[in-house]
Amino acid sequence: MDFQKGAKLDPSQVEDRRGTRSLGGRGMAVGGGAGAIGLIVVLLITLLGGQGIDLSALQSLDGVAAGGQQQGDIHEECRSGEDAESSATCRLIGTVNSIQAYWERAVDGYQPAVTVFFSDSTDTGCGFATADVGPFYCPADDHVYVDLGFFQELQARFHAEGGPFAEAYVLAHEYGHHIQDLLGILDRVAGDRQGPESAAVRSELQADCFAGVWAASAYARDVLEPGDIDEALAAAEAVGDDRIQREVQGQVNREAWTHGSSAQRQRWFQTGYRGGDPNACDTFSGGI
Ligand SMILES: [Zn+2]
Repeated sequence: MDFQKGAKLDPSQVEDRRGTRSLGGRGMAVGGGAGAIGLIVVLLITLLGGQGIDLSALQSLDGVAAGGQQQGDIHEECRSGEDAESSATCRLIGTVNSIQAYWERAVDGYQPAVTVFFSDSTDTGCGFATADVGPFYCPADDHVYVDLGFFQELQARFHAEGGPFAEAYVLAHEYGHHIQDLLGILDRVAGDRQGPESAAVRSELQADCFAGVWAASAYARDVLEPGDIDEALAAAEAVGDDRIQREVQGQVNREAWTHGSSAQRQRWFQTGYRGGDPNACDTFSGGI
């Protein structure tokens, strides 16, 4: 990714809670228990997932983003495109700015959504969340929650192809859920959360498509560089239900799908990217 040197960043779109402790103690109520299927599936399933899973029994991944160091003030540190080039945290802020700038232009009455960076755990409108949950969107408070250590863990432990644009894809996918929330689409998921044609899968694929639409606008604005799209496609591949199931269970069970296959996720991201038009992201009618 390549941010324009003179561009101004808007850190007010991000709330940095890293290094602060949450007082909450309740597990997230959404979703089901993860059981003993292990950390890898939990991480991969919850990456890009809209549903939290109570993972309190599992090993925490916290502390990577914080790294034991004092966090600087993002309002001081992240002011310009240069800062986004030199700091991973500022780059994420620039990415959030870019995603929201696109949707402000594309959707009448767009309401901005704050992204919260946290480490360890935090309280959310959707309940208490630990870093294990992975990035998610909470419709109750319209915030995107990201434990920044998650990106590093994903890369270090699972050899998923990381990189700035893989992270951008994750953020853009979560903002895709925010768009669905604004448009009243998220409500369709309740009661149809599993299966290859389920509303859950359709909504996840639409969020991937919306991420692709934003990527197209970023490309038009020279924020993308060659290879960036490959990082997003690799990330989409890594979080396909079929790939995760094959790795964890040794077989594919379509009836348990919640996010769609690797091929579907890549295809819908590309549909958004090639057309650059959110109207092309109708995953709710017809085949997916
Ligand atoms: Zn999702």
